[in-house]
Amino acid sequence: MDEFVPLTPEEWRDKLTELEYHVLRENGTERPFSSKFHQTGHRGKFACKGCGVELFASVNQFDSGCGWPSFDKGVDEMAVTEHQDRSHGMVRVEVRCSHCDSHLGHLFPDGPTETGNRYCINGVCLVPVSN
Ligand SMILES: [Zn+2]
Repeated sequence: MDEFVPLTPEEWRDKLTELEYHVLRENGTERPFSSKFHQTGHRGKFACKGCGVELFASVNQFDSGCGWPSFDKGVDEMAVTEHQDRSHGMVRVEVRCSHCDSHLGHLFPDGPTETGNRYCINGVCLVPVSN
């Protein structure tokens, strides 16, 4: 995989909408139930809005009811990175794209499947890929 060439804030703003920039580059959160991917239905992969690398697959998606797209794991072990997040008075695990380091969402240890993980991901970070 090619190394991601870091973009300047101006280049990110050209590439992304205002909401996408806020979520991906400023650790923002979209409104719950605002993404059409908050429920399952897409069949295929989901790529990163920031760089196009595949992050999640619909076979690992489930309806969590929380209002954001939810997955029990990434497409592979290397797809996303985990970081401690102490913002908003909580200790959470932040999830970022391992390729372009864009913020994606958070990881919670209360998933219903055998992985026990719930990757709670902002839909604006995901680009559906059909294959
Ligand atoms: Zn990315």
